Amino acid sequence: MSQSNNPLTQYFNDDFPKQYQEAPAVQAKMEPVPDCGEESYKGSGKLKGKKALITGGDSGIGRAAAIAYAREGADVFLNYLPEEQQDAEEVKALVEAAGQKAYLLAGDLSDETFCQQLVKKAHDSLGGIDILALVAGKQQAVEDIMDLSTEQLRKTYEINVFSLFWVVKAALPLLKEGASIITTTSVQGYNPSANLLDYASTKFAINGFTRGLAKQVAPKGIRVNSVAPGPIWTPLQISGGQPSENIPEFGQETPLKRSGQPVELSSVYVFLASDDASYVTAQIYGVTGGIELA
Ligand code: NAD
Ligand code: MG
Repeated sequence: MSQSNNPLTQYFNDDFPKQYQEAPAVQAKMEPVPDCGEESYKGSGKLKGKKALITGGDSGIGRAAAIAYAREGADVFLNYLPEEQQDAEEVKALVEAAGQKAYLLAGDLSDETFCQQLVKKAHDSLGGIDILALVAGKQQAVEDIMDLSTEQLRKTYEINVFSLFWVVKAALPLLKEGASIITTTSVQGYNPSANLLDYASTKFAINGFTRGLAKQVAPKGIRVNSVAPGPIWTPLQISGGQPSENIPEFGQETPLKRSGQPVELSSVYVFLASDDASYVTAQIYGVTGGIELA
């Protein structure tokens, strides 16, 4: 929660307690629990009447987007993994408390058939799709390429890249003019860490996919943009996204000397989804604590 408007101290800026969970980690068991805007995000009708499908909507950045979208007046359909049911139920309750509809569907985005079913179910439940917020991702740090298994390599690419193709292919025939597609890249898509070769290279792919797709669907009146987070305090990081010994000081290398909280991305996901972004497409918006996207 906000202490002041000084960006250095506005959110948690101390060392984090050392912690590890198997992926996919549950946010409710993290210490401190990430701030996804549960107490603080205030809407002002920016997405009134819109319908959003959000992947990775149970926790972290996707949860922050889900809470914000609901408080801005949108109904939401959330995808996540079965192990994350607890986090997803919390988001459903928050969306309903905002007076909007929430639908939940657990399932694995590395399965093309599931991606197709997800889009169809979201479209049927919501009665349309205006916003496709593709936030789900897999990140497992491996120090040496010799230890990077083909299984991990495939899964990281299937979840982070292939699922974008599969979900967008299923959704495009259903999207109308004015729709907005938002992908989630990373500072890793510009400046890859030595221990994130598979993950970082998927984020470079997402940059290219986003910009190319934006040009392809511009004639249909559909906008496509991406958000590039810096180090954000989420379940992804404490479940192998970083080596455990890096967790306490996670984010302190940024110019703002702390990790970001998911709520600090909410307004960017809202802006890109809203009609305020009518002239914004093929762009990548950084929320990085000062790390340059170059
Ligand atoms: P998170 O763990 O809260 O969210 C990731 C979500 O991905 C999980 O909740 C899970 O539901 C989903 N997911 C993973 N594998 C899946 C699968 N096989 N099928 C369906 N869903 C699956 O962590 P987050 O940090 O909020 O991650 C959201 C996005 O932000 C990811 O794309 C991540 O790469 C990106 N990102 C995060 C950071 C960071 O520092 N946290 C930095 C840059 C980019
Ligand atoms: Mg999760």
